[in-house]
Amino acid sequence: MEQIVAEFCELVQIDSGSGREGAIAGVVEGKLRALGFTVERDKAGERFGGETGNIIAKLPGEGRPILLSAHLDRVQPGLGIKPVVKDGRIFSGGDTILAADDVAGIVAILVGFRQAKLSREKLPPLEVVCTVSEEGGLLGSRYLDYERLASSIGFVLDAAKPVGTIINQAPTQFKFDVAVIGRAAHAAGAPEEGISAIQVAAKAVAELPFGRVDGATTANIGKFKGETATNIVCDRVEIQGEIRSLDKNRAEELLREFSQTFTQVAASFGAEVELDSYQTYQGFKLDEEGETVLRAKRALAQIGRTPTIEFSMGGSDANNFNRHGIAAVNLGVGYQGSHSTRESIAIDELVAATRLVCQLILNA
Ligand SMILES: [Zn+2]
Repeated sequence: MEQIVAEFCELVQIDSGSGREGAIAGVVEGKLRALGFTVERDKAGERFGGETGNIIAKLPGEGRPILLSAHLDRVQPGLGIKPVVKDGRIFSGGDTILAADDVAGIVAILVGFRQAKLSREKLPPLEVVCTVSEEGGLLGSRYLDYERLASSIGFVLDAAKPVGTIINQAPTQFKFDVAVIGRAAHAAGAPEEGISAIQVAAKAVAELPFGRVDGATTANIGKFKGETATNIVCDRVEIQGEIRSLDKNRAEELLREFSQTFTQVAASFGAEVELDSYQTYQGFKLDEEGETVLRAKRALAQIGRTPTIEFSMGGSDANNFNRHGIAAVNLGVGYQGSHSTRESIAIDELVAATRLVCQLILNA
């Protein structure tokens, strides 16, 4: 147990960020080589200006290969982390995140593999993928060189849930950019000649379905920017937002509805709209009786945890793996408060995550 905590603390103290994974990738790569893996890096980083690509580590064996994955990057503030171990938990120093998201996943894979190796000579073929820029929009797994992988089953160790949670369903996400274009005029001298983009945009946004649109769908606007002097009718507002749904058709339908609302409201004022939308990741749903979920359930039962199958409204690398034909679930690794300076993980959870990986390997 002390070794697990020591390795966790070692890795969180190596600075990392999305696109800035060079240092931690070097250390994790060294550890995987020392365990007998053949390690390569793909060129994913070049696609988005990152320091390095994804780590793809392979170990030959007998039987069907399985993929294990966690991400190397972390959100900020994630530099100069000083972990604090207290009352059976690991905390950050309070002024940074802890980066248990997703160092806990990496440690679970490394330690789980060592445990499996100790208990059995012959293991199945393994593919360990440590992705870059997961927090930057799942970029590493988006640009991963899938040609190098043979697995059709995968386990992502990256859910902010207790060990026992199996995420078998996650949404499709669309992002959109809207520009509302009005007409500038003197706000007091000739207001009749102006068309206020702020008024048009505000009216359109007020009419949109917002927040939790239904049990499987959410919508949000995160940017609403229009700025000029108070004596000028504002002629341009820029808006950015997102739509997510477990049902891709529903997300597309809502996107059309958003587009129509902006267009109609703008037309009623004589304003114009430019709308651009794009899919950032695609949703997935794995059968609860399918092989990946069954394997996860079995391994959890063996380590004495009750499996809980849940959907998530967040995307993870599992979205991209599924899109490329690898039936992957995202598994709870036990950290709490991720993406905040309150992030922490119970040592018991970290240990359970390592035992889970060990069982997944031994059962394969
Ligand atoms: Zn994560």
